[in-house]
Amino acid sequence: MVKLDAILLKYMSREDFRVLTAVEMGMKNHEIVPLSLVSQIASLKHGGCHKILKELVKNKLLCYENGRQGTGYRLSYPGYDYLALKALATRDVVYSVGNQIGVGKESDIYIVADEDGTQYAMKLHRLGRTSFRKIKEKRDYHKHRNSASWLYLSRIAAAKEFAFMKALYDRGYPVPRPVDFNRHCIIMELMDAFPLYQVNELANPGAIYNDCMNLIVQLASFGLVHCDFNEFNLMLETGNKIKVIDFPQMVSTSHVNAAMYFARDVDCIRIFFKKRYGYETDTYPTFNEIEREDNLDITLSASGYIKNKDCDGNDDFQAEFEQMVSNQRHQTLDDQESEDEERQSSFSDNSSDDDIVDEKKEHADNNQSCENVISNIE
Ligand code: ADP
Ligand code: MG
Repeated sequence: MVKLDAILLKYMSREDFRVLTAVEMGMKNHEIVPLSLVSQIASLKHGGCHKILKELVKNKLLCYENGRQGTGYRLSYPGYDYLALKALATRDVVYSVGNQIGVGKESDIYIVADEDGTQYAMKLHRLGRTSFRKIKEKRDYHKHRNSASWLYLSRIAAAKEFAFMKALYDRGYPVPRPVDFNRHCIIMELMDAFPLYQVNELANPGAIYNDCMNLIVQLASFGLVHCDFNEFNLMLETGNKIKVIDFPQMVSTSHVNAAMYFARDVDCIRIFFKKRYGYETDTYPTFNEIEREDNLDITLSASGYIKNKDCDGNDDFQAEFEQMVSNQRHQTLDDQESEDEERQSSFSDNSSDDDIVDEKKEHADNNQSCENVISNIE
């Protein structure tokens, strides 16, 4: 698993970042960036590029390659994390990084704080990380993909997620407040909430069931189907309010399979409420009864979520990203369930690891203090 070791960040010099950034820039048109190109882009006043590169490789922020594709350097996920964090620190969005609070299918979630100590959730997209059962199939499917494109696809996932989260938040839809994003990293409100899969009992399951169904309907009235609307992506806040997370795979209600995805989201909730809370009803929404009230699908894809200050749009990659999430959407419910279970146990298996804390413990503590914060960035 790719872990974020924020302690190092504190000790990185301007030159270190210059060299790291030079490799990132070189990767725009080189899979492996040769030393000469890194030196040229970084153009350090006093030289010493090679020495810095060696140190960055030692700390796993870069990988050194010497093979068929050439000799040189490429950025690793930890290196990409550092670049994103550095950018967010420079904008005064993030000052310190704390514990990991969640692990998704292809993401890691950490607590971060700004200089005043206000805490946020940071989601790092990690496309290409396959730590679950479907590993083999996914590997085969993606075996020709190089690491640069994984970083790029993660960046598209983050840009798309941020754009949707913002549009929904602005319309009063219950999602975490989006704060900022850079590269593959999103900063958002840290919710004092439990994912529904951790909630064993509800005082009034019928009321929460209705809230969930209304949220599916409201989303569709905006022109969107979530496509992963389940107990892992629904957070129950104190006061029994549901908030929805995790949007990179959303589709337009005009998508050819939208009705099927809609029905699948509805079924997920029905099955979960029956299994977990023994709650069952014949009342559930259908795709045909949806009335359009907004066109978020059109507005967002027309504006091109990728074209903004952090992302130099690349239509090929965007199309590839859509193709990839479309494959994920095609997973059957069974596939998804076993994958979700595995994710859950892989997270608890790891929870004895030094820097991963138990989600429940973390969220139960209302006064999340800065004690968790392991490192300041600057
Ligand atoms: P993935 O796309 O990888 O599934 P998610 O966005 O669903 O990632 O997040 C994974 C987990 O992290 C969630 O189940 C939740 O427990 C936690 N989490 C995500 N966002 C937040 C947030 N804003 N506040 C608190 N916890 C969060
Ligand atoms: Mg999720």
